[in-house]
Amino acid sequence: MKKWLLLGLLTITLTLSAQTDQRIYDIIDAVSAERIENDITKLANFGTRHTLSDTVSQTRGIGAARRWIKSEFEKTSDACNGCLNVFYQKDLVKKGANQRIVHDVEVVNVLAIQKGSKYPNRYIIMSGDIDSRVSDPTNFTDDSPGANDNASGMAGTLEAARVLSKYTFENSIIYMGLSGEEQGLFGGGGVAQYAKDQGWEIIGIFNNDMIGNIKGVDGIVSNVDFRIFSEPVPPNETEEQRRARRFYGGEVDGISRQLARYVHKNVKTYMPEMNPMMIYRLDRFGRGGHHRPFNDAGFAGIRIMEAHENYTQQHQDIRVEDGIAYGDVLEHVNFDYAAKLTAVNAINLASLAWAPPAPIEVKIGGIVQPSAKFQWSKVDGAAGYKIYWRDTTSPTWDHSRFVGDVTEFTLEGIVIDNFFFGVSAVGKDGFESPVVFPNGIFR
Ligand SMILES: [Zn+2]
Repeated sequence: MKKWLLLGLLTITLTLSAQTDQRIYDIIDAVSAERIENDITKLANFGTRHTLSDTVSQTRGIGAARRWIKSEFEKTSDACNGCLNVFYQKDLVKKGANQRIVHDVEVVNVLAIQKGSKYPNRYIIMSGDIDSRVSDPTNFTDDSPGANDNASGMAGTLEAARVLSKYTFENSIIYMGLSGEEQGLFGGGGVAQYAKDQGWEIIGIFNNDMIGNIKGVDGIVSNVDFRIFSEPVPPNETEEQRRARRFYGGEVDGISRQLARYVHKNVKTYMPEMNPMMIYRLDRFGRGGHHRPFNDAGFAGIRIMEAHENYTQQHQDIRVEDGIAYGDVLEHVNFDYAAKLTAVNAINLASLAWAPPAPIEVKIGGIVQPSAKFQWSKVDGAAGYKIYWRDTTSPTWDHSRFVGDVTEFTLEGIVIDNFFFGVSAVGKDGFESPVVFPNGIFR
């Protein structure tokens, strides 16, 4: 009797341990709100970090800010035996490139790369922005603390590097500070082009832009809600892919949307106290962010940010008007919340960096048959594969089946017409690639 009970308990424990990984909880616990507060304070105290601001001063302007960011990454690297390759990536942007570039400027980004042990040329990226602005986007001299927009995202990125540099991953991770965001997404554009030139395989980018405000202009106060923005399908898809979608579906199943679902699911598993809101749109209505240039280049990318914005604290001259205090100042940033969203990033960077690549080809069959059939290309390093499906109206992959180390499978009794399907690759520790929506059919 006792033996049976013990066996039963053992089975439950083993099953549970296969579903979650203690290292992910350790990563959540290691993120420090105090260090994030220190970093946001430091960044806000550079006075202005406007892209066109002073680059010579040691205490004020974007030059001092980026040198400090680089030195912080280097400190992190020193603590892990040089595990980060830290460098500037820069492009000259000429006066008049748009109305916000009022003089020639070097747009300088800071990259810190933690090389993967097995797939060094595959990269998952977390970014924040270095630059800030006030009411007039060409005003590069007035105080522009940009505490939330976007010292919060930058500080989160520095902290994620500190936490994750204690581990070894199979894929590479890039921690990145981007410039030129407020002037027209120049920094992201520069790195996306650099990635293409280097032949980097980009798993995806998590663009963190404003992760510190919990009091919304809508009156809602929440330290658990946050948004994941993702576009439906890549802008550079071919006419053939567009036509295929009409007959096979996929309007809401592009690579960035799959990345959004990945983050959503992982947060629900490991941080159930949080409320991730998937927003089915590239970005906020008519506004931009630094994931877009990566999307333009055909890479998966999402924006992670607070759910309840306050517009009196964004892009504003610091002033009091009609009793309202305007300005993106330190007082409005909630550091515990910024730490939670940093943990959201860190656990997803880790999960993807520990996971095998996704299958490149996924074919689906089963037209006018009682069962759905799948074939996919084998993935080096995968211990097995998981087939996912969901009602066509559901935003999340609600059903799944682990099918082992095979490259084809039939879901008996599941009619192809009534669901959407996808396949992911699963590593030996249970970490998964993003889900791949079928990109081919067979009879
Ligand atoms: Zn902004």
